[in-house]
Amino acid sequence: MHGCLNNRESALKATIFWLVLCVISAISFSDALAQTSSVPQISTPAQLQVNQQPHEVKVTEYRLPPDKLAKAEALYKTRTVLYLLGLIFGIAILWALLKLRVAPAFRDLAERASRNTFIQALVFVPLLTLLIAIISLPIDIYQQHISRAYGLSVQSWSSWVGDWFKAEGVSLVLTVLIVFALFVIIRKSPRRWWFYFWLLTLPFLVLLIFVAPVILDPIFNKFEPLEKAQPQLVGAIEKVTHRGGLDIPRARMFEMEASEKVTNYNAYVTGIGATKRVVVWDNTARDMTIPETLFVFGHEMGHYVLNHIYKGLAFYAGLSFLGFWLGRKVVLGMLARWGEDWRIRGIKDLAALPVLMLALSLLTLVAEPIGNAFSRYQEHQADIYGLEVTHDLFPDNREVAASAFQKLGEKSYDYPTPDPMLVFWSYSHPSIAERIRFTLEYDPWHTPAGPKYVK
Ligand SMILES: [Zn+2]
Repeated sequence: MHGCLNNRESALKATIFWLVLCVISAISFSDALAQTSSVPQISTPAQLQVNQQPHEVKVTEYRLPPDKLAKAEALYKTRTVLYLLGLIFGIAILWALLKLRVAPAFRDLAERASRNTFIQALVFVPLLTLLIAIISLPIDIYQQHISRAYGLSVQSWSSWVGDWFKAEGVSLVLTVLIVFALFVIIRKSPRRWWFYFWLLTLPFLVLLIFVAPVILDPIFNKFEPLEKAQPQLVGAIEKVTHRGGLDIPRARMFEMEASEKVTNYNAYVTGIGATKRVVVWDNTARDMTIPETLFVFGHEMGHYVLNHIYKGLAFYAGLSFLGFWLGRKVVLGMLARWGEDWRIRGIKDLAALPVLMLALSLLTLVAEPIGNAFSRYQEHQADIYGLEVTHDLFPDNREVAASAFQKLGEKSYDYPTPDPMLVFWSYSHPSIAERIRFTLEYDPWHTPAGPKYVK
């Protein structure tokens, strides 16, 4: 699920099943500090140094040394090509499956297996989704190969394969349930199913976000109370939370063992209600100074305090309402035109699932820049919050923040000058260069209006 750290990587998944994607992205939309995942360098497992040296080199803009810049540029180009290929490939797979009438064959099998519609879904959905997952596997493998080649991932292939099976397993269980419910609704209400189904996805989404940190995340990663893993850090963090006039209980701060798989830094806010929490990756606390880690924490605290998960949920609810309404029209249009040729009996036929997926993939493609613009806006707000909440805690907090961004960018080989169109379309976070520029310029403390969030 942490593929969502980098939405360029999850683009392919979009075509697998839009709703599962929506669910999963909403869960880990829980944020992530960085646009790109992963990083190189085997970090020295140094303990947090309490007396860190101040930075000798002042960061004035995002800049990479020539060797890293060359690598960043190569990685940027490879990822852009992969992103575009992924979009086309996902749609092409569905189109090919429809042309080859694969779904009707699976439907016939399912109908022969049982008259019970749940058992039919239990036969049909795994056949279809596993076939798509296997066809997409070479791209997934190539992406992991790239991450390893650039030192962004240190995960062994056996562990990666294990994660692939776990992710497919979780996605399969969810997809069977969702598809079964969807077809029950379509058969009961062929005209208004889009609305009832949309309504049903909302509590389902809330439930998934609620259980994600306690049930789903531990399937893939290990978590420890931050207090146990980094006791000194918790004390420092409490100064930040008090400065923001907020108490995030120690029991809601966790450290994730990311260093077994990736090398970069990250932190995020996840869960809702009783499971709401802040998670800091172990790499972050190891490689960054305490002030830098506190700025990272301040950014995450911004998401927490500003209720970004609830707002994100509301945003997705609005967007998916439109999506399902339009989706129905697109599906009916496609069925009217090609349904017979594809051997699909109509909207109530299980074999219509790839048509629904195709329609929603196309709509997701259009919705992607809208979702990303919203995400970048929230990330920008969290940056502002992070700067404000650490303002009084160390004198040069803007330089500290700029240095944290510089480290983040350098470790991820984040390209300094990405194409603005690509940023607009596919970046869930503002580019590192933009974030550093803003950080160094932001100075509301000398204006009459004052700071925005932390007075
Ligand atoms: Zn963030």
